[in-house]
Amino acid sequence: MSQHLTPFGDPDKEHKVEKAKRESNYLHGEIAETLASDAECFSQEDYQVLKFHGIYQQDDRDTRVANKAAGLGKDYIYMIRVKIPGGEMTADQYLAMDRLAEDVTWNNRLRVTTRQNFQVHGVLKGDLKQTIRRTNEAMLSTLAGCGDVERNVMAPPAPFADEPHARLRETAQALARDLCPQSPAYHEIWFDGEKVDAGASSENPEPLYKDQYLPRKFKTGLALPEDNSIDAHSQDVALIGLVDDGELVGFNVLVGGGFGMTHRKEHTYARLGTPFCSIGPDQAVETVQALASIHRDFGDREDRTHARIKYIVEEQGVENVFKEFCERVSFTPGAWDDAMGELEHRDWLGAHDQGDGKQFYGVHLPNGRIIDEGPVRRKTALNKIVRALKPRVILTPNQNVILGDLDEQGVKTVERILSSLGVPLPEKLSAVERYAMACPAQPTCGLALTESERVFGHVVASLDEELEHLGLQDEPITVRMTGCPNGCARPYSADIGLVGHKPGHYDLFLGGRLDGDRMAEFVAENVPMEELVPTLRPLFEAWRDHRMPDEPLGDFYERVCGSSDRRRDIQTGDRKSPAKERVDAALAELTVSAGA
Ligand code: SF4
Repeated sequence: MSQHLTPFGDPDKEHKVEKAKRESNYLHGEIAETLASDAECFSQEDYQVLKFHGIYQQDDRDTRVANKAAGLGKDYIYMIRVKIPGGEMTADQYLAMDRLAEDVTWNNRLRVTTRQNFQVHGVLKGDLKQTIRRTNEAMLSTLAGCGDVERNVMAPPAPFADEPHARLRETAQALARDLCPQSPAYHEIWFDGEKVDAGASSENPEPLYKDQYLPRKFKTGLALPEDNSIDAHSQDVALIGLVDDGELVGFNVLVGGGFGMTHRKEHTYARLGTPFCSIGPDQAVETVQALASIHRDFGDREDRTHARIKYIVEEQGVENVFKEFCERVSFTPGAWDDAMGELEHRDWLGAHDQGDGKQFYGVHLPNGRIIDEGPVRRKTALNKIVRALKPRVILTPNQNVILGDLDEQGVKTVERILSSLGVPLPEKLSAVERYAMACPAQPTCGLALTESERVFGHVVASLDEELEHLGLQDEPITVRMTGCPNGCARPYSADIGLVGHKPGHYDLFLGGRLDGDRMAEFVAENVPMEELVPTLRPLFEAWRDHRMPDEPLGDFYERVCGSSDRRRDIQTGDRKSPAKERVDAALAELTVSAGA
């Protein structure tokens, strides 16, 4: 074993999910048998294995109480996640997903996730097979959409024609292909392939993942300094393109980012990625495989809440991870390239030149929902546009959609169809709306402690009203809400992060920023939803009265109220002492000094 790192956890106390994975015979479990039976749902063991196939077994949480009172069981439904590297697909693939949502979901809804996946919710057990088959017939896949493996590989969504963007898109595809599980189980279960005992084969069917796969998920994203829409610092591994004279010459590598944590478990924390090394443009796959193998061999297999590579980096030292990494790759990595520019966030809404005489157009989707709601018919509008113009379609990390390869007339057609079906054009969005994100939470997510997406429209409207009242309505602000601390909508690097704590109550984080490279601070615990705006009002007023020219909210907070220990607070899990009193005092002091 390594001289540099020590595996976390006691091997004699492995988590029960580890046993389920090991005994699944490389992701087979009893899934095929349960599918063919009348059973209402899958066993607890297969629930874990199903995730690797891109399927979450859920139940409708809205009907739990009534069902229980009536002596009924849960209403089981399934969420299917379609993995789309870099979020990019053809018009025909988009239309296949659009039709699938119409046929198998409970609400004719497609959702764009913050990892550039598609998700469909509310699929019944009897429709699982056709859902997976139809996805694959469209040359897309659900394999490794979830589970303890490399998840969807992210990439800058803007379809610029230049060499660096094209290389990043190719690299995302190569990573997705080379880190995908190799087990034949997916083919056998969903396409009635001949069943083989994968474990009995003399050849290891999973050279990277072995029979227990990773201790938990692994997330990789590609970025460019001028397009950090993937939030590079929130990824387990981020490869940031280095460009010289218009060509990709390598990557700076960040390691150990990740926003998932658990309330009251102080050994869990959100963390920004650490600068690690630089590599050549063709060393991406080897680099990510080596880091995934470090996660595999040293990650915590006893406590899943502590089983991400960020904990190895933070608690065993990035220098030791680097030494281990050097022994696992065939090349000598370079030092982090300090000449790389600052990371910038872009949302790419509206029309932009692609650089090859064509244009692309970003369409805003609140919380990634592609749905017809009352007079706003986004699903119909996108269907019409894609059928008429056959654009390249790209899902963005901000849960929006980009339509690529348009000519000037095409852009006009996009705007005409959107407007005719009640979809607001980007210039009509408020600054809060434009960058706001919420996770799905209830009624489908089993981990949700409270509502997120279903109440978010109300929260955004209240913030808009307050900011308009203060004359701040045009200032860009990132507001992100989640129903639990897992951080799926990346709240910990937002100007304002709202993290569900208990029904109707949210922990308040402040001081991140749009560019995603600064951790927010835990400011107040368990704020009732209706108290969010009054709690934020003193900060908004101080920002209005005392900010520097064009100073964003998060930067203002950092300058006036931020603690120098802040990153340490969140990274060591010392979250018992929210900073509210200190922040109130700093704002009061500001008012007093201004009046003096
Ligand atoms: Fe579910 Fe929590 Fe993720 Fe929201 S942040 S989708 S509640 S796991």
